[in-house]
Amino acid sequence: MNEIIIGIDLGTTNSEVAVIQDAHPVLLKNQDSVILPSYVGVDEDGDLLVGVAARNQYAVYPERTVKSVKRLMGSGEQVKMAGKEYSPQEISAIILKSLKEIAEKQLKQKVGKAVITVPAYFSDVQRQATREAGEIAGLEVVKMINEPTAAALAYEGDAHLGKTIMVYDLGGGTFDVSVVGIENGVIEVIASHGNNHLGGDDFDRKIVEHILEYLQEEHGELSLSPEAKARIERAAEQAKITLSNNPFATVKEEYLFEKNGVPVHLDVEISRDEYEDMIRPFIEESMEAVHIALKGASLTASDIEEVLLVGGSSRTPLVQQYFEEELGLIPHCEIDPDLCVAAGAAVQAGMINGEEVSTVLVDITPYTFSTASLQFNMQTMSYDVVCVPLIKKNSPIPVKKSDVFYTMHDNQKKVKVEVYQGESTVPNENILIGEFMITGLSNKPAGNEIIDTFELDKDGILHVTAIEKCTGKSKKIEIDNAMAKLDKEDMDKARDKIGELFNTSSDCDIDGEYTVVDEENENEEETAEQQKQSEEAVKAEALIKKAETLMDDAESEDQEELVELVEAIRDALKAADGTRLDESMHELNEIIFYLES
Ligand code: AMP
Repeated sequence: MNEIIIGIDLGTTNSEVAVIQDAHPVLLKNQDSVILPSYVGVDEDGDLLVGVAARNQYAVYPERTVKSVKRLMGSGEQVKMAGKEYSPQEISAIILKSLKEIAEKQLKQKVGKAVITVPAYFSDVQRQATREAGEIAGLEVVKMINEPTAAALAYEGDAHLGKTIMVYDLGGGTFDVSVVGIENGVIEVIASHGNNHLGGDDFDRKIVEHILEYLQEEHGELSLSPEAKARIERAAEQAKITLSNNPFATVKEEYLFEKNGVPVHLDVEISRDEYEDMIRPFIEESMEAVHIALKGASLTASDIEEVLLVGGSSRTPLVQQYFEEELGLIPHCEIDPDLCVAAGAAVQAGMINGEEVSTVLVDITPYTFSTASLQFNMQTMSYDVVCVPLIKKNSPIPVKKSDVFYTMHDNQKKVKVEVYQGESTVPNENILIGEFMITGLSNKPAGNEIIDTFELDKDGILHVTAIEKCTGKSKKIEIDNAMAKLDKEDMDKARDKIGELFNTSSDCDIDGEYTVVDEENENEEETAEQQKQSEEAVKAEALIKKAETLMDDAESEDQEELVELVEAIRDALKAADGTRLDESMHELNEIIFYLES
């Protein structure tokens, strides 16, 4: 067997190492994580720290810690660490040696060869410095490949398709975007543009500023210790990550500092809307770079067949939103954007070694899951019902996403949550796979916040929760087989299942209403009247089931009335007599309400 070759992503903020196992790239773990922060330090005893330990030390002892050394590669500058000078190659070599050791420990064999990735914009001098770092670390650098090329390899495997793609890489401290051509097994960067000082750190800084302003407003002039500053910075990054999947994040730090001898606790909520306003200029700058890269390749957005998202900060929903809304491109982020480049380096390493290689294995959802909401249409000056996606097609699973919705009316007591499978923004063009009511909401003016959460687990079960934010009151359903392409039979089964759920639910007055859209008949227009009738029929059935569950425990007088009303409803359904149906349902509802209370 050939000597193993490892693939390394030597990043500004984080680094990773991967190899090919059973034809697929696999990231190698150091303790619990496959990510090694690109930090190097020396502790108070003079011992070397690499990765998480060095990053933790950075906030408090920056003079003993080095970060973002990649920015200095090839510059000839020296860096100081604990009073001693080092070349950027030497610091990078420490990171590379750690990655080599992680690989040796995991693979239980010596490792001497590596493929290392570098940014597409790296000059020859910067590439040479990276090669030297590898050699200092005891690694023969068999090939250096561009990071966007590696990302393309992770997605495209053998790269035989003729395609033009875009790789948008937004990391912790750097950003670049590349137009990449793939043809006859050759992957080539056609044009690239970026900013060496743009990334997630800038987003963190904005949140830190926001928190400091808040603290100043509450407590006046501040004088914070390095520890307190470090805690705020860490909490800000955590809030940023939370806001990628949730509409709100709470920053809580107890005993942050003392003011006039009194301990001060930090407890502030940041909404995604506020956060997006803070970072919009950065995302807009990155989109300008997208246009410059396109221009450099003499192409337009419509020539790009795929957009691949790379780098931890590309998980920011605003990035995806800009691609969709401004360029009409839906980006791919199936492969973990933190790990994509290392996985591609491993694919390249495997290819050099003559191994059989294939793309990264990921479980993804083939459908988008959305909920219906009213949206104001500026053209018609009226409200439209639209599907708002929570989990998007091609998201790796498991996945959990939340968004906030608002009540329309003052003192609105209930909200209907509809769950759709499908890609359209028009509810009728998607498949309704579940719906429920959250009831008993507080008396609040219009705009009461309801947070919907969709969680798709690895077994394809969709857990849907709606929570009234101000009280925490919640309602939840589970939808089995959410990823199956539902046909009529499946839909009927799903409907019965959901119907049962509504009837056994005791904590709120679910009315059991839901509509089934038969995919084959999706385009046949049902008249509004027919639709209303079928909705009424479903409501009636649910009410009858509920009455039946109460029958046994009811007094004989009430039992008789229940039986009579159930019969009256069935008759009205048969005769399609809407008025009688309404009256009987109203009466039955009243008895049920009386029996339940
Ligand atoms: P990288 O340099 O590619 O490792 O990316 C690191 C950056 O990604 C850091 O600024 C992280 O805070 C950021 N990051 C990681 N996960 C997320 C997330 N879910 N949403 C937004 N930013 C993230």
